[in-house]
Amino acid sequence: MGVPTLGCHCVVCESADPRDKRTRPSVVLGFGGRNVVIDTTPDFRYQAMRAKIDRLDAVLYTHAHADHILGLDDIRPFNLKQRGAVPIYGAPETLATLRRQFTYIFDDAPAESTIPLIDLHTIDGPFDLFGARVIPIPAMHGSQPVLGFRFGKAAYLTDFSRVPESSKTLLRGLDDFILDALRYVPHPTHSNVEQSLALVADLKPKRAWFTHICHDLGHVETNARLPENVRLAYDGLTFEVGL
Ligand SMILES: [Zn+2]
Ligand SMILES: [Zn+2]
Repeated sequence: MGVPTLGCHCVVCESADPRDKRTRPSVVLGFGGRNVVIDTTPDFRYQAMRAKIDRLDAVLYTHAHADHILGLDDIRPFNLKQRGAVPIYGAPETLATLRRQFTYIFDDAPAESTIPLIDLHTIDGPFDLFGARVIPIPAMHGSQPVLGFRFGKAAYLTDFSRVPESSKTLLRGLDDFILDALRYVPHPTHSNVEQSLALVADLKPKRAWFTHICHDLGHVETNARLPENVRLAYDGLTFEVGL
């Protein structure tokens, strides 16, 4: 829902610490002059401006919940600037939901103004993207399947409640693991702090970064309670990863 959460006046929502201001979850991977975005959130336009993204080369989708897809329309300036379609990658069920949610992109009706230009690519296993290897990591988000993504020594896995053993194998030997940790209280479709700490203890990445954090977790006080190698991520966080 973002922090501050609309209508909420709790200490985290009213915090003056910029790291307690949270837009919806997304990351951009920059390499070889390319920018690959994971999920186009409702905050995509603002996030791309803030990160000074000058081009968009591909979008990978984890799943098709509203907080992960609704910024898709805002890729249009990149279509115009780059004079072409942006490749979009997702699992079959994710692409099916995109087709339903954005019928105007897919209905072939004559458009009187710009609409997003995209090429759909179905993810059915690891694939190469501009010379980098992308390894999809299947997980469960309640009863719905989601994908995380591994790039070299880093992986991004948001919106999950259970990681099957076959996927844990794909998540070993990481330098940086960015993962869902919504809050302390258990949630039917999200990993909480305790569950995510257990997963980190099992997979042993060098560093773990919690994301998709709700207003229950203040930045400074939560970090003080976490192990040294586990930190809350924050908007604008950047680091280098070995591809
Ligand atoms: Zn979700
Ligand atoms: Zn989400």
